[in-house]
Amino acid sequence: LTQLFRPLDMLGWVYRTIRQGLIDMADMFNLMDTEAEVKDVPGAPAIVVRHPVVVFENVSFGYDPDRQILHDLSFEAPAGATVALVGPSGAGKSTIGRLLFRFYDPWSGRITIDGQDISQVGQESLRAEIGIVPQDSVLFNDSIGYNIAYGRGDASEEAVRRAAADAAILPFITALPHGFDTQVGERGLKLSGGEKQRVAIARTLLKDPPIVLLDEATSALDSRTEQDILATLKRVSEHRTTLAIAHRLSTIADADIINVMEAGRIVESGSHARLLQADGLYAEMWNRQQNEASEEREAAE
Ligand code: ATP
Repeated sequence: LTQLFRPLDMLGWVYRTIRQGLIDMADMFNLMDTEAEVKDVPGAPAIVVRHPVVVFENVSFGYDPDRQILHDLSFEAPAGATVALVGPSGAGKSTIGRLLFRFYDPWSGRITIDGQDISQVGQESLRAEIGIVPQDSVLFNDSIGYNIAYGRGDASEEAVRRAAADAAILPFITALPHGFDTQVGERGLKLSGGEKQRVAIARTLLKDPPIVLLDEATSALDSRTEQDILATLKRVSEHRTTLAIAHRLSTIADADIINVMEAGRIVESGSHARLLQADGLYAEMWNRQQNEASEEREAAE
């Protein structure tokens, strides 16, 4: 009989592993095509984060040896600050996020958090310090409560409710016939882009990490939803070191530092006001987006 059941056991294990793998990938910027390549150095200690300062020092990197993506890139995110990464598609913004989460190691240069080189610490401990709100979260085929508590199985019901409230999704959940027990995902209730993002926000608030990576949705949300989400995202970045990847500049205009990227390099850096004054790439992008927005408003009228 055991002979008969072993393959079934195996199948269950494979299924769970794949499912887990897929979700973990999805959590990280839809990295479905990424394989975990990095290994811990033997005896790597856990990272200890007291002052969540994130520093990229002369980082060069490419996914393939013959195609360099990041070129000698340096920037600092001071503890508690919000640092935005903006720039044209393919500039390397998400790549920075993947390196910070250590899906890959840089070719040269280093990335430190609170003075510790992230390639020298345990990956698990590193990832516990970083929360991610991806552009498009994939949810588990499980209850909405489970999806919020994911990674924090020990969270109390009260804590899950509070996180949902802070992510402004509590009224939506309590109005569902089965509340937090409502099944979501492919085989359950389908959530809108905005609702999924709120689940990701609630999950991050519950995890309560000192560092967060926000990857702004590229898909258009209607402007009211966008305003609501922005207000909730502010809550996520409060008191945390935040790296915000943005496409619409209006969403990061109040960031402490805006790094403008082009072809794997930071070409401008500063506050919104200073970058407008500098009248370079950022100003050009800003003016273009302002014009597009007013054209859309006119078209809607
Ligand atoms: P977007 O605004 O479109 O999201 P981005 O600035 O975030 O763009 P990245 O996703 O960092 O850009 O990609 C930078 C470059 O790296 C692109 O040219 C892309 O083709 C390449 N790239 C991204 N992921 C991989 C990968 N897994 N393997 C090989 N090349 C990749």
